[in-house]
Amino acid sequence: MAQHFLLSSQARTFSIVKIAKMTERQATNFFKKLRWSDTNGKPVCPCCGSLKYYDLSTRDVWKCKACKKQYSVTSGTLFAGHKLPLKTYLLAIAIFSNEAKGLSALKLSRELDVQYKTAFVLLHKMREALLETRDEEPMDGICEIDGAYVNHYTRPANNIEDRVDRRRIQNPNKRCIVVVRQRADGRNEYIGSRRTLTYVLHNENPTGIAQIANTAIVAGTEVHADEANAYDNLHAVYDMQRVNHSVEYMSETGACSNQAESYFARFRRMENGVIHRMGNLYLSDYANEIAYREDTRRWANGRIFNDVSSRCMKTLQSNEWTGYWQGNHRISERLGA
Ligand SMILES: [Zn+2]
Repeated sequence: MAQHFLLSSQARTFSIVKIAKMTERQATNFFKKLRWSDTNGKPVCPCCGSLKYYDLSTRDVWKCKACKKQYSVTSGTLFAGHKLPLKTYLLAIAIFSNEAKGLSALKLSRELDVQYKTAFVLLHKMREALLETRDEEPMDGICEIDGAYVNHYTRPANNIEDRVDRRRIQNPNKRCIVVVRQRADGRNEYIGSRRTLTYVLHNENPTGIAQIANTAIVAGTEVHADEANAYDNLHAVYDMQRVNHSVEYMSETGACSNQAESYFARFRRMENGVIHRMGNLYLSDYANEIAYREDTRRWANGRIFNDVSSRCMKTLQSNEWTGYWQGNHRISERLGA
């Protein structure tokens, strides 16, 4: 039997050991190449775009000859005003990339010997980069759509006399994660599914689902969904294939939402085994992180590492994650399409 790709040496194209051996100068050069890929790492002023600069050789800082502003390799990016050595950020990205089901802030704080608060913000900055740079082009070919509930558990009262029928009460924190996956068509490296988009709703309702489908799927596309009535209205716009999960996982005609279920399988493993408590305010980021991990699950780890690093360097300084522990928080949940 052929060896699975992830077990082969070709799937291990970098290691944390390699990064641990880097000097701070090498780490800076790595970020320079990612940030200024068009000029092969030569600094470009983030303010005016000028290529002329004075090299302030005492630190890794440049002064623009045109607008006289000083800048570093991280100015204006997600890691702007960084306090830790750049090598620590590379290590954080490396540890994050090597995980299969997400990474907890406690674990990262132990690995890097930084405060829990630092690790928490760093992780969320990486999630922000993945969400900000995701490919939102509407999908075609064959798609699957499905929803799953999170944060809905209500703990029963201690005393049996105080317990209520929990089917009758709703946890106000309950949210629905809706996933849209485009199936692989065999024309490239992807197997099973090719691309994944996630959204958060209060519940699996027809209006929310219609808006998501409208944003994420090209009209006329073949769409597979389960028997939930929230998907009934999609028949007007898409070539719908329905599967009744109380009877079967795949219908006689081949309708199934198994790729969407695969996404939720990995999501549940993060929820139950890694993160434990996901605040609704950042649910969209957690959901998208697992979408990214599903889509890149067959990549060599060096490729994932390079991709995450370059997404971090392409993401602009985040208003929500600058000064988080000084009280600067996201104001509202990112719901719907
Ligand atoms: Zn300038």
